[in-house]
Amino acid sequence: MKLAVIGTGYVGLVSGVCFSDLGNDVTCVDKLSEKIELLQRGEVPIYEPGLKELIEKNTEAGRLRFTTDLTAAVQHADIVILAVGTPSLPNGEANLTYIMGAAREIALSINGPKVIMTKSTVPVGTNEKIENEFRQFSLHPVSIASVPEFLREGSAVRDTMNPDRIIIGTTSDKARQMIEELHRPLTDQILFTDVRSAEMIKYASNAFLATKISFINEIANICEKVGADVTLVAEGMGHDKRIGSSFLKAGIGYGGSCFPKDTQALIQIAGHVDYEFKLLKSVVEVNRDQRFNVIRKLETILDDLSGKTIAIWGLAFKPETDDVRDSPAFEIITSLLQRGAVVKAYDPIATDNFRQNLEHAKVKYCHSAKDAAQNADALCVLTEWKEFRNISPTEIQAWLARPNLIDGRNIYTEEELENTGLVYYSVGRPNMN
Ligand code: NAD
Repeated sequence: MKLAVIGTGYVGLVSGVCFSDLGNDVTCVDKLSEKIELLQRGEVPIYEPGLKELIEKNTEAGRLRFTTDLTAAVQHADIVILAVGTPSLPNGEANLTYIMGAAREIALSINGPKVIMTKSTVPVGTNEKIENEFRQFSLHPVSIASVPEFLREGSAVRDTMNPDRIIIGTTSDKARQMIEELHRPLTDQILFTDVRSAEMIKYASNAFLATKISFINEIANICEKVGADVTLVAEGMGHDKRIGSSFLKAGIGYGGSCFPKDTQALIQIAGHVDYEFKLLKSVVEVNRDQRFNVIRKLETILDDLSGKTIAIWGLAFKPETDDVRDSPAFEIITSLLQRGAVVKAYDPIATDNFRQNLEHAKVKYCHSAKDAAQNADALCVLTEWKEFRNISPTEIQAWLARPNLIDGRNIYTEEELENTGLVYYSVGRPNMN
């Protein structure tokens, strides 16, 4: 099948590349010429395990190409995939400027009937707006479908190739049949729905996962006060098939380009129909507060943070990605700076992206974990990169000026900490303090 993918971010690039690997003819389009030039040279603008190899393989096979020429790409395609960003507006609503802009451009470019498949996360009713855009600006018939994306950054290629399910929300038989054919090699778990339900499935899924995270974080906070261990509590809960063990890891809360914006957007979607989503509002509030436990714990140990040097390990919102959008590290570091601390920060992959958003005289970006920890008054682990797990607490203690470790992701075990003189605080494991 011939595909044009509009937007070569985490979703568009990975989907386009994976669809080409299945034998489809794929043109990836982006407005940003620097991004397209990079891809045309065989370089990859994002860090995603396995992606570079697949790009090389499929470009060489002639099934995959990159362009800024949207018109040519959509004219050549049977299916046009919308994968542009839908970031938050200041009030939390999804900003539809990019998706409606792309829809208009496609409408003005098409030269025949097309299937339009929306992968971007969009509020309920948006695909109807997209359809109207085509009615207004094109003479050619289009079949619209909402096919929300569920990949996770850091394992995006694997997730795309092995999806838990594919949701196809459409009223068009043609779109249904073509999109089903496109996804059949990936899974048998295909659920057909109406468009609005498909749009809602994406928000409801992310809101539910965010709820699990805030739930276990609150349990962790209570564990700290009653002397229970949240990792054992989560394990005990997770064996119950009705609950499941995933998304029950206590920590400093969720971040990234999806959960924060999608939870806020769903609160707004509900608000527009006069429904106050009280549960989700609490989930967001709990998450916002959870990251500041790192600061509270530092103040418990060091009292006044002014003039203290704090090492930060991990700037990405989670491991195996260079994405720093809504990473908890921003608020934690900003809060340290407000308290007069000096920060030495290190991340295996995401430092450049982070620095572009936070340049400050009192933040030194370091080239290694050791560099950051050396002579610091405390070390805070904010992202559970494997690299950090492989460094022993004894080594950490030797590097630090004062033996204080705040483990925001519970990466160290009781055994590893035995016989060290570290003052150690993790999340919901008071027995290890
Ligand atoms: P992104 O910001 O990484 O990429 C979007 C790209 O679209 C950018 O490169 C931008 O230049 C390009 N673009 C914008 N307007 C364009 C236009 N008119 N023509 C061509 N290119 C255009 O976004 P992303 O993280 O890939 O997310 C895309 C969508 O998928 C969002 O709605 C997001 O919520 C959703 N989603 C993201 C993830 C994720 O993990 N990142 C997972 C599931 C769903």
